[in-house]
Amino acid sequence: MRPVLVKGGRVIDPSRQLDQAADVLIQDGRIAAVESNVTAPEGAETIDASGMVVAPGLVDVHVHLREPGKEAAETVATGARAAAAGGFTSVCAMPNTDPITDNQAAIGFIVKQASAANGARVFPYGAISIGQRGEQLAEFAKLIEAGAIAFSDDGHPVLSSHLMRTALEYAQAFGIPVADHCEEPSLAKGGAMHDGVVSTRLGLKGIPAAAEEIMVARDVILSELTGGHVHLCHISTKGSVDIIRRGKENGVNVTAEVTPHHLTLTHDKCEGYNTNAKMNPPLREEADVVALREALKDGTLDMIATDHAPHHYEAKERDFDDAPFGIVGLETALGLGVKELVNGGVLSLPELMRRMSTEPAKAFHLDAGTLEPGKPADLVIFDPGATWTVEPTEFHSKSRNTPYAGHVLAGRVERTIVGGRTVFQRDS
Ligand SMILES: [Zn+2]
Repeated sequence: MRPVLVKGGRVIDPSRQLDQAADVLIQDGRIAAVESNVTAPEGAETIDASGMVVAPGLVDVHVHLREPGKEAAETVATGARAAAAGGFTSVCAMPNTDPITDNQAAIGFIVKQASAANGARVFPYGAISIGQRGEQLAEFAKLIEAGAIAFSDDGHPVLSSHLMRTALEYAQAFGIPVADHCEEPSLAKGGAMHDGVVSTRLGLKGIPAAAEEIMVARDVILSELTGGHVHLCHISTKGSVDIIRRGKENGVNVTAEVTPHHLTLTHDKCEGYNTNAKMNPPLREEADVVALREALKDGTLDMIATDHAPHHYEAKERDFDDAPFGIVGLETALGLGVKELVNGGVLSLPELMRRMSTEPAKAFHLDAGTLEPGKPADLVIFDPGATWTVEPTEFHSKSRNTPYAGHVLAGRVERTIVGGRTVFQRDS
């Protein structure tokens, strides 16, 4: 493998509190040096990164890649390439495919597709329960052996507190997290958007904040009971933040993620029955957005995760009530983070990198999120000053369902490197 020298960039590595002009030398797919004025070894490829940020590749612990089962919406390969185009070098694929990844063969299939994808690394979740039916625990040891890095029944909450308790106890033995989609189904039933003034005006049934908060509280309590690591998916309300903050103060083993859309949009986006603003959990209110931003800043929310949820065009063309939940997110996440959070004065650029790379890697025990010499050479190189307009037809994802079409974002990925190999390069 040819050595690679990334020259003259602003190197940000939150894992080592590094933010300085430096060169990054890559050898044999690993970081060899991060220093100023590195001399290129013989035969090295040199990449000019002047004016660019060079950071550990982004890590997304929550994506839906739809394969097997819904390959018209996305595949492991297209998802991995969309991820690379968005600056991600590692993504974790949720198990609600068809068939569900609740057995070794299904996990093995994802691992095999991922190795051929030529994009970001893809790590499969195993299902918590057989068939995600919430009844019988999947065989965690076998799923881990096949490559599962965490467990979740995402798409559905784990309704049974007994099952959740058992899952946390088993997963703890392997030292990996159990990720829950927090939604109390009897309160959320039939809901299409956030329960508030906009749902009333539109005549749509709402999903109250309490539906999420009840399950967040339960999961924090069960984590405290078992000592197991509970990871809370896509937190969307101020009340949830308050519960998590209290849990962390009490030393509970809880981590939590927030999506770019919950950090940047409110339920107002559903006006006009805009199905590209329909997601679960739903877009909430301004006070929630403010609380989520504060919580990301102070670490109550550990990380940003996209909940990338591709849907075929026709599915989102249905009536609001009938359209599926979810939006694509891999190719807009960094641009939204730089524009809304960094340029918006919420986070510094190193803090954003921490929340999009170092912290998710740490929480999920992935060998990523750092530029420490010896570690895999997974990098993103992006122009923090560039602005660009979201044009969904240019997405590498197979799907186009985004509420950000036409939005002007800041911070544009120029190149993504996985294991020392360029997997995305902007053509210009
Ligand atoms: Zn979910």
